[in-house]
Amino acid sequence: MRGEQVRWMMTARGEPLVQVKLDTLSPGPDEVLIEIAGCGVCHSDLGYYYDGIRTMHGLPLTLGHEISGHVIETGGNALWWVDRAVVVPAVIPCGHCDACRRGKATICPHQKMPGNDIHGGFATHIVVPAHGLCAVDERRLAATGIDLADLSVIADAVTTPYQAAVQAGVTAGDLVVVNGVGGVGGYAAQIASAFGGVVVAVDVNDDKLAAVAGQGAALTLNAKEKTPRDLKAAIAAFAKERGLRQSEWIIFECSGTRAGQETAFSLINHGATLAVVGFTMDKIEIRLSNLMAFHARAVGNWGCPPELYPQALELVLDGRVKVTPFVEKHPLSEINRIFAAAHAGALKGRAVLVPTH
Ligand SMILES: [Zn+2]
Ligand SMILES: [Zn+2]
Repeated sequence: MRGEQVRWMMTARGEPLVQVKLDTLSPGPDEVLIEIAGCGVCHSDLGYYYDGIRTMHGLPLTLGHEISGHVIETGGNALWWVDRAVVVPAVIPCGHCDACRRGKATICPHQKMPGNDIHGGFATHIVVPAHGLCAVDERRLAATGIDLADLSVIADAVTTPYQAAVQAGVTAGDLVVVNGVGGVGGYAAQIASAFGGVVVAVDVNDDKLAAVAGQGAALTLNAKEKTPRDLKAAIAAFAKERGLRQSEWIIFECSGTRAGQETAFSLINHGATLAVVGFTMDKIEIRLSNLMAFHARAVGNWGCPPELYPQALELVLDGRVKVTPFVEKHPLSEINRIFAAAHAGALKGRAVLVPTH
């Protein structure tokens, strides 16, 4: 007997999220029904909820795009997935359009993002396309002691910086600056380090810097205490000390703040790559020609193609990227309190909401 199916709906900006009972969901031919193990609370969810950033699907809508769970029912074309543990990609491409066929799944015009294009993961259950799901070996997972709910953060918080690291071409001996090390940035530091980069973590919060000090970052710097010029000089001194290049720095902007973007842009040097991972609606004033003068590049990335998910999962399962110390689990029924706490910056880790089944 299946438990009750509910989802939490956003009805209007800032209004309390409300629990709605669902008629039993059932998957279409190419879809699966997932019993959700956990769904991470992302900065973007707070953006939709508090800042009025528009969702593609109108309100009311269930937010949440970092989902892990068990497939409990499938359509006729997705039978392979029955009973499997999965991570649902935050951006699910169609798999057969021109962009998808050319390996550009993140710009698929038919993509579906849970909690944006379709109802999301702050629910007990969800129906999603089977295409792009990432299977999790549960025996191996059990051996690691990681919860399936903890793995929800792979969708987005881990895979987005993973894709950014692949795109930036991080390799052994690169000097990598991660600006903003809460949530996504903490994983960016670990991933860049796993790729062989030497990571300098920059933030304005000493607690966040302390959390990554032993976990990916070789040097931590508080940007609040330094002018951009001093910050660049401190990183240059560190590079010299470590015998690393004074050019071609790879800079991950993960803070998604105006100040953070200004800092990140100011660190560009010859041949640098600026990876824009964080999001803000704010605008900054920059001299774009610095890209020309330094022969540098700035690249963005929207989510991560599903084919990279297994590699990102592998980093987590083999312990090179740790998720558990950066995750705190809370009951889904406390969603309103947790949204408020996350918005107020009162949480230590990334919140994952866990439904009771
Ligand atoms: Zn997100
Ligand atoms: Zn497509």
